Amino acid sequence: MSGPPADGPSLTPGTVPGYDARLVPAFRAAKAYHCPTCERPIPPGTGHVVAWPEGIVDERRHWHHHCWRLAVRRGRVSGSRDTRGGR
Ligand SMILES: [Zn+2]
Repeated sequence: MSGPPADGPSLTPGTVPGYDARLVPAFRAAKAYHCPTCERPIPPGTGHVVAWPEGIVDERRHWHHHCWRLAVRRGRVSGSRDTRGGR
C-alpha cells in the first residue's frame, strides 16, 4: 500500500458557514452523484465531498473536491435553489 494516508471520517475538507462537510473516499462512493455547482456527474468510485446544512442531513449534496473548495473560498454555497436567477 502506497500513497497518502486513508481518509478518516473526521477529516473535514474545509467548511462553509452553516454547513457540515465530510470527505467521501473513493471506496465508499458506490453510486453516481450530481454536483450541484458545476452540474456535472460524479462517477461511482470517485472520492468527493458530501455537505449539508447543519442539522439537515436530508439536504446533503455531493460535490467535486474542487467545487467544494471553491465554495469554501467564497464562504458560501451556491446550490440549485440559490442564485440561479432564471425563471
Ligand atoms: Zn462539480
